[in-house]
Amino acid sequence: MASPHDIATLAIHGGRSLDSHASSLLFPLYQTGTFVHDAVGVDKGFSYSRVSNPTVDALERAIGALEGTPPAVCFRTGLAAESTLFFSLLKAGDHAILSKVLYGGTIRLFREILEPFGVTASFVDTSEAANVQAAITPQTRIVFIESPANPILTLTDIAAVAEITRRHGLLLAVDNTFLTPALQRPLELGADISVLSTTKYMDGHNATVGGSLATQNPELAERFRLIRKTLGSIQAPFEAWLTLQGIKTLPARLRLHCENAQQIAEWLESQPSVARVYYPGLRSFPQHELALRQQRAAGGMLSFELDAPFETAIAVLNSVQLCSRAESLGGLETLITHPASTTHADLGAETRAALGISEGLIRISVGLESPADIIADLAQAFAAAGCALSCAQRAQEAASEVR
Ligand code: PLP
Repeated sequence: MASPHDIATLAIHGGRSLDSHASSLLFPLYQTGTFVHDAVGVDKGFSYSRVSNPTVDALERAIGALEGTPPAVCFRTGLAAESTLFFSLLKAGDHAILSKVLYGGTIRLFREILEPFGVTASFVDTSEAANVQAAITPQTRIVFIESPANPILTLTDIAAVAEITRRHGLLLAVDNTFLTPALQRPLELGADISVLSTTKYMDGHNATVGGSLATQNPELAERFRLIRKTLGSIQAPFEAWLTLQGIKTLPARLRLHCENAQQIAEWLESQPSVARVYYPGLRSFPQHELALRQQRAAGGMLSFELDAPFETAIAVLNSVQLCSRAESLGGLETLITHPASTTHADLGAETRAALGISEGLIRISVGLESPADIIADLAQAFAAAGCALSCAQRAQEAASEVR
């Protein structure tokens, strides 16, 4: 049954229960590896923290409340969640369809582990749902999409793909890390599994790494728990406890992340040295319409390309003073990265070019500092890198000097 509460209330109270021992307001941290049995075969529901732990259970109830599902299944990292998903559902000879623009680690998981084990994969442009239909083979078992996709925020019409997977009896999993259930509801749009790296907005403080899988299907959830126990990929109690606190401010934080990102995206778009800005909240974003339809807001992530050589992009990154040159996203601090040399470095230049990830692309996870201060930092970095003017303007100036 759908909850009568708004997401802001659910983030604080959803799935929460008082600790039965001392009624502490915050659920306690059960930092223990094992649990004592009352008698042989008699326990209080817990035996060993690789299988389950009360603090991890509390996090699973809280995430389930946000996703609108029974308790989610939580993992040590987002990639541990993904590995468990694929090991749970695929065997040698099976085929998976994945978004072409995708977090680099997901692609590496297939290339380095699943494909050598005999699973095949097609990486297709899922921004056109028809491409998913065309890639289906008798061996296809799962479609895995990321929307918005890392790093150029390509969107996939989740409802349109869900209609296809339902018709073909396939499972649809959506990596919703960039938006979280506060801004996009993949399961309500027809997906079977919602995948999160809780490392990002869910924790929100760059304090932990973690992941989750949520589904309405109890057999699937049971299978994920079995494979998690087998792989040993459960979330740790302390990380679960920290994430439980972070989730409480998720909707409030995301509201500000979105406001700040919109302002910064608009500023970037007005800069002569910026060739292109990727942000679903901009009218110029090719899938702006779909973003309005499918998402509650545009999110806190944006990317842009400088109208300048690769070295200038690197110089901009090296000149920022307030923004942090750091991987990851979704925390309070604004982080700036160069996907070609970090998150998508393993793919190689040719694959990156085919995916539209240029060598000069810069990605920003917009934090909660004042947007004016972030803009001032970027402006001084542009100036320091010598790209206050666009390449075209510089070429014109050089030509007039020659004349
Ligand atoms: N999914 C997306 C969209 C990501 O950006 C990341 C990490 O950056 C992951 C999954 C993997 O998550 P983790 O780093 O928690 O393993």
